[in-house]
Amino acid sequence: MCTICGCGTTDIVEEHGVGHPTGAHAGPAQDHDHDHDHGQDHSHTHAHGAHHHEPAERTIDFGKGLAGLHIPGMTQERTIRIERDILSKNDALAEANRTRLIDTGTFALNLVSSPGSGKTSLLVRAITDLKDRWPIAVIEGDQQTSRDADRIRATGVPAVQVNTGKGCHLDAHMVGHALDHLPPLRDGLLFIENVGNLVCPAAFDLGEAHKVVVLSVTEGEDKPLKYPGMFAAADLMLLNKSDLLPHLEFDVAACLAAALRVNPYIQILTVSARTGEGLAAFYAWIEARGSLRPRIEESMVNGLGP
Ligand code: MG
Repeated sequence: MCTICGCGTTDIVEEHGVGHPTGAHAGPAQDHDHDHDHGQDHSHTHAHGAHHHEPAERTIDFGKGLAGLHIPGMTQERTIRIERDILSKNDALAEANRTRLIDTGTFALNLVSSPGSGKTSLLVRAITDLKDRWPIAVIEGDQQTSRDADRIRATGVPAVQVNTGKGCHLDAHMVGHALDHLPPLRDGLLFIENVGNLVCPAAFDLGEAHKVVVLSVTEGEDKPLKYPGMFAAADLMLLNKSDLLPHLEFDVAACLAAALRVNPYIQILTVSARTGEGLAAFYAWIEARGSLRPRIEESMVNGLGP
């Protein structure tokens, strides 16, 4: 989680980062072998006190070589406590966002995926198809640049770009702030495009109605098994880039089975943002869940009004 990758706890990273100020951990000059050979990639407190100046039971190690993070005094219990604190603060802010969105009749979807799955292209296509039906706005999350928000704005709908810097996910505070900068969206559809990352965004509620995970057929069909947290957190999976299937050895059935093994309740649609295949089903999924007000109704009311 984010106390390990550092995105939610910059104080820890900046204090202890890759420099290993205690000099206790292997750097390039020390060339010490830090392999564990126990097949576990997670963070853990462990006893190999000969390598460290700090008592081993008060030290957390993560990663190897230059990427290694060594935090003297950071026990696994303290890591879990920090994670709980971060997530409980986030959950409170997410609930505030959710109340605000529900009060305005806004149906919010949080799109999550690896980088390059085609989230932005999918949104551009969906917005182009739907913007005359419902009011739409977008919050774009990326570490840097406003390129995605620029692409969205070119469709004619409002978009706010959130740059997370080193951060690898959007959090509820960022989304609340972004909502302040969007024009009021009554009875409309809010797409939140999260930072491309299949790990941390799973843990952060933004106040959305649903998480939608986008997986493309250019990725491995076993991704749901490798990153189960994200597929467990999502209510809908869009299997994107279906137009490329004839050129790939991608086992669709194996991919669907992997997703359903992780989350038996997940709904799955095969789509192509390029050709539009399957998107009508995605739009029907949205319509069935969001109480969105058709634009036609608004113009009729306006036309009939005094
Ligand atoms: Mg994007």
